[in-house]
This record gives sequence, C-alpha cells and structure tokens, in this order.
Amino acid sequence: MKTIGITTTVPVEILIAAGYQPIDLNNVLVGDPDPTRLITIAERAGFPLNCCSWIKGIYGVCLDRDIRDVICVTSGDCSNTIMLREVLKLKGINAMAFAYPDRPDKEQMDYALEKLAAMLGTTLKAAEKVRKELKPIRDLAMKLDELTWQANKASGGENHLWLVSASDFNGDATKYGDDLRELLKTCAGRKPYPSDEIRLGYIGVPAVYARELYPFIEKQGARVVFNELQRQFAMPEPGESLAEQYTNYTYPYSIQGRIEDIKTEIKRRRIDGVIHYVQAFCHRGIGDIVFREAIDLPVLTLEGNADFFLNTHVKTRIEAFLDMIQRRRAKPSAVSRARRNVVK
Ligand code: SF4
Repeated sequence: MKTIGITTTVPVEILIAAGYQPIDLNNVLVGDPDPTRLITIAERAGFPLNCCSWIKGIYGVCLDRDIRDVICVTSGDCSNTIMLREVLKLKGINAMAFAYPDRPDKEQMDYALEKLAAMLGTTLKAAEKVRKELKPIRDLAMKLDELTWQANKASGGENHLWLVSASDFNGDATKYGDDLRELLKTCAGRKPYPSDEIRLGYIGVPAVYARELYPFIEKQGARVVFNELQRQFAMPEPGESLAEQYTNYTYPYSIQGRIEDIKTEIKRRRIDGVIHYVQAFCHRGIGDIVFREAIDLPVLTLEGNADFFLNTHVKTRIEAFLDMIQRRRAKPSAVSRARRNVVK
C-alpha cells in the first residue's frame, strides 16, 4: 500500500478504499524520539519562529520521511495548512486539499466526500464498505473510553493515546484492533481507580507534552476521564453513513457544537474541573474566552509550544489547580461564593 500523509483527521475510509495507507503526520511527530529535530527542519527552511509547532513538525516529518502524497485539510482545521500546502507543493510533494463544509450539513458533506473520492480515484460505495469494516475497530476505541470513565479501569494517558491514534489507526487498522483488544482485556482485570480521585476533562488540541502530562496528573491523585478531541477523532457518533459520521464529528465546525458535546460529557462523566490546552500561536487559543464563559466548572488553561516535556512552571500550575478543586470539594459552600474559573 502507498503511504499518504494527513494533516489532521480526514475521512480515512476513502483513502483506504483508494489503496492508500493513511499516516497522521501529527502522530509521527510526537512519536519521534527527537521531535525538536523535525521542527528545526522547518525553521531552517524559513518557517517563522512564531508559527505553530504542529505545522512546522508536519513539514519536517514530510521531508524527513520522504512522504510523497499528503492530504492537507484546508477548511475545518487550520488556516496555516493552506500555506503549508503551498510549501509542500514547492518541494515537489503531491499536496492535495480536502475541505470540510463550513457547517455540519449532510448534503454538503456528501459532496465533499464525493470530491475526495474522485480525486483519489475511488468511489463512495467502496469507502462505505471500508466504513463497515472499520466499525468494530472504532467500537473498541469507544469501549476503552467507557473503561476510562465508567469502570474507571483505564488511565487518562491510555485513553488519549488510543483515541488520538484512531485518526490513522497507527497506519495498520488490523494491528490497532488486535493490540487494543489486548489492552481492553488487561484493563478489565485491573482494580478500579480510587473513588475519591479528582476527575478531569481535557479539551482542545492534543498537547505537545501529552506523554508526560497524563502520568503527572495521575501522580497527583487526579485523572483525565474525558479527552474531548481525541474522542472525536475516534468518531463517537458514527451514524448510518460516512456523510453522517463526518457531519456528527464536531471538530471542524462551530465551537458551539463542541461546547454542547463537552457539556454533555462533563455531566455524564461527573467531572470536577477542565484543562483547556492551547497551542502557542494557534487561533484556537482565542476560543478559551468562549469555553470559560460556557463551562460552569474551574478551568485551567495550559499552553504549549515546542516543549515536549512538562516544565516546572506547568507542573506547579497543575498542582495549584488540583489543590483548588480539592478544597472546593471539601468546602462547597465557601467556594460557591468565590468567582468561578479562578485559575487562569
Ligand atoms: S494547533 Fe492550531 S495552529 Fe497548530 S496546526 Fe492545530 S489548528 Fe493549526
């Protein structure tokens, strides 16, 4: 199978139906033993220092791994990708565009999917067949999610890693399914996490320092039981067709759709506080204003840039946030008078 890079979650069913093996370039970046090296490739090529590290890293991965075909999502993800695509084309890479519709509309989605299928030389009918084959594997990811928040037997880091990897199934859906089945068995045999732990939600794009973030939170007696976008990447609302699946996917559209999903899950998962991760130089950081207004819980906003580890400053802020939640739970009446969202 021919490899095809993707800059974010795309309808992989179409890529697979067209005979490609999709590779999420973001996952390759964070999985690299030295991701800083990949960002440096972009900076040496002229990418500005104040450009998001994910964009620079994606460029570095394409060149480092000699990826020849890439699907660049030019609407519904990141405006920087438009210019990234131009630079990739300049380097001789076949950088193709895919645009999510500007609103979650099934007819418009059908049209966008048809266009993508035609561009790659396949059909929606073939992609629907792939959707049905992937469905049991996507169900496993949802099972892990349940084991995280309902049975309390999976860690926030496991939840993050396996759901975020559903964007490309680590390049091999069969192996992803087999490995995940094994993990589910292991989780089922574990003792549940303590019932008095602090339950956190994580919203926003995946953190550059995710590898250290989740274990650190768990060392402090808390756990992430909701990874908002990672869960979306796994397609929690598959519907009856590809068009429905990618219309129900909240990430590409208005922030209001995401808020609805976040609020439902906060209630369902009995969440005590929310971490909103924002990437330095990302337009999505402005959305923090909207989230803070909409979420009726303490919110800690964390920013990351090209730091793939947790620095002391971030650790201290997390500790202070968890301490505040602990005190809030112990003395609800006193804290209810305090201003909400006190940690910023
Ligand atoms: S973090 Fe923001 S700026 Fe960076 S690639 Fe994602 S959407 Fe674009």
